[in-house]
Amino acid sequence: MPVSCPFPKTGGVNIFMEELPCSPEQTEIARLQKRLERERKARAEAESIAEQGLRSLYKKQQEVELLQAVAVASNESRGFPQALQAALHSICTYTGWPLGHVYLPDPLCPRELLPSSLWHMDVPERYHAFREVTAATHLTAGIGLPGQVLANGHPLWISDMGQAPNFPRTVAAQQHGLHAGFAFAVQVEGQCVAILEFFTGEVLEADEALLRVMGHIATQLSRVVEREQAAERIQHLAYHDTLTTLPNRRLFQDRLNVSLAQTQHYERELGVLFLDLDRFKVINDSLGHQSGDELLQQVATRLLRCVRQGDTVARSGGDEFVVLLPEVMGTQDIYQVAERILAVMQPPFVLGGQEVYVTFSVGGSTYPVAGTDAETLLKNADLALYKAKQQGRNRYELFTPQMASQAQETLLLETSLRKALIHEEFLVYYQPQIDVASGSIIGMEALVRWQHPHLGLIPPVQFISMAEETGLIVPLGAWVLRTACAQVQAWHRQGQRPLRLSVNLSLRQFQQPDIVTQVQEILQETGLDPALLDLEITESIAVENLQGTQCTLHALKGLGVHLSLDDFGTGYSSLSSLSTLPMDTVKIDKSFIQTMLTDPRNAAIAQSIIHMARSLNLQVIAEGVEVPQQRQFLADHHCDSMQGYLFSKPLTASDFARLLEQETAEQLQRAA
Ligand code: C2E
Ligand code: MG
Ligand code: MG
Repeated sequence: MPVSCPFPKTGGVNIFMEELPCSPEQTEIARLQKRLERERKARAEAESIAEQGLRSLYKKQQEVELLQAVAVASNESRGFPQALQAALHSICTYTGWPLGHVYLPDPLCPRELLPSSLWHMDVPERYHAFREVTAATHLTAGIGLPGQVLANGHPLWISDMGQAPNFPRTVAAQQHGLHAGFAFAVQVEGQCVAILEFFTGEVLEADEALLRVMGHIATQLSRVVEREQAAERIQHLAYHDTLTTLPNRRLFQDRLNVSLAQTQHYERELGVLFLDLDRFKVINDSLGHQSGDELLQQVATRLLRCVRQGDTVARSGGDEFVVLLPEVMGTQDIYQVAERILAVMQPPFVLGGQEVYVTFSVGGSTYPVAGTDAETLLKNADLALYKAKQQGRNRYELFTPQMASQAQETLLLETSLRKALIHEEFLVYYQPQIDVASGSIIGMEALVRWQHPHLGLIPPVQFISMAEETGLIVPLGAWVLRTACAQVQAWHRQGQRPLRLSVNLSLRQFQQPDIVTQVQEILQETGLDPALLDLEITESIAVENLQGTQCTLHALKGLGVHLSLDDFGTGYSSLSSLSTLPMDTVKIDKSFIQTMLTDPRNAAIAQSIIHMARSLNLQVIAEGVEVPQQRQFLADHHCDSMQGYLFSKPLTASDFARLLEQETAEQLQRAA
């Protein structure tokens, strides 16, 4: 059988050769040649595999370098725009693509994309027209390369923009010979924050591996935004009040300082308003802290309605707000804002489904009249606020230089008040209380006075509230109680008939946890019969904390003392609280007595208080009786006792003793 020859066949020779049997040498050569060929192929294959491996290794290394470059740039960037710019540069360098750009979502409408000024171009002047067209092209979600990425969130590759149906910038791209493009989104919490797009001059099929790398870059860039947002949040927390989200005192101070510098430069005026909720504590205590918080939030919202853009409303703490009016034309503007604030607070607030009426006090100061630096302006606005509160609340006051001198006096008074107790400058005066039916003295009210070394005799209205604020009322009140009890007990020892002693107890004193023990100790110390002591509390004490008040009052009653409700009719106490509190006497406030002859309504009120007290089995005493007609009215309506200038002003202890002696002498004379 003929053996086929392994040598190449050519024309007729081949035919001839095929027919010739091969020599053994030829067969061996052919076998060796075949083997060589196989080995060559194997080597070529191995080389190709190694080359591919190397290439992919190289590509991988480049990917790693790209990711590292973006990571470093992101970490070191001052902000998101810088990180984006660095990413454009790195990606273009890595891919060798000439053009990269960023589209940003419209802050007002997140479904719209706006072209940014962030570009990377290898030769900037070459793509001028494309850049111009892009700068004028706003894209809606779904339109164009970035628009489609915005719509579906995934990276997108276009092999040839010339063929793409949905690419508004085709003409400009073609003009520059741009073909392939891809884009991907940077997202934070599902929201697109930027879209990066890249273009090149070749027509290229989608490179999935490249798009995967872009996915990692998008994650790195999103971290920059998250970092910025966290920093912003921290910044916001440091400069804002968490409850109302208004600027806090710190931010307010900063803005005030900036505004002051501008105001000084342009020689303009500037206003600061201090606002304080009247009796916020009552709301907090009665409706709970949650309602208090709700109220503050609603107040913040209403306040923002009263100001213009550029003004600042801040919460400076607690129930205090401050307003900065950086551009005002005189005090009239400030008055207007203050009036607007009081008006806007008038309608009731709804707290936990309940309607609540709240009033405000406002104090204002202006640059340059009230001060030229932030600290003075705020201090003087606060002073004006204090004045507004003193004047009866629910009103506004603007700082005047006189206020500062008054404040100075107050400060001086406060300092000397602290020393007055040590220097024994206080005196107790006694005002007689008269039985309406018999006209004889049945007791007295102890009323404190301050014998100031330079200012003379100072009445309590001028220092009691100050003593209350500073806490000095606690030792002062105890001193009055001890002095008066000792004095009355001394009169009894001297043979006087038993007379009842009324002593005023202030809110602060009443709130002392050991008030009952204090009273008990003073009674024991002085030896006064508890039944002869009458403690006067005001209505404000009665409503402050009903539960606690009840306990203290019952404990005091347990000592055997009497209790009176002073200045009745001027406060907030409800009649029901009167019936539940363990009171013995109601004192009709002098404002009703002094006006009842001219104002029939006040006469009616006085009359009803007497009737109501009697029906509740309470004693009634009227204070401020100055004329006989008033006494007659009280006698006609069966008021038990009275107190007033008609009989006597408050007297020193020695004058009061003389009055008692005089009365006794008269009684003896009458009897004789
Ligand atoms: P209050 O307890 O209502 O005392 C009655 C005030 O009315 C006294 O004023 C008294 O002098 C005055 N008054 C009495 N009769 C008449 C009158 O016919 N006409 C007029 N116009 N006034 C009359 P005073 O002594 O100036 O005391 C004022 C307030 O100061 C007291 O009002 C009381 O709230 C407070 N106060 C006085 N002493 C003390 C004290 O030792 N402790 C405390 N916590 N408060 C005191
Ligand atoms: Mg009194
Ligand atoms: Mg009174």
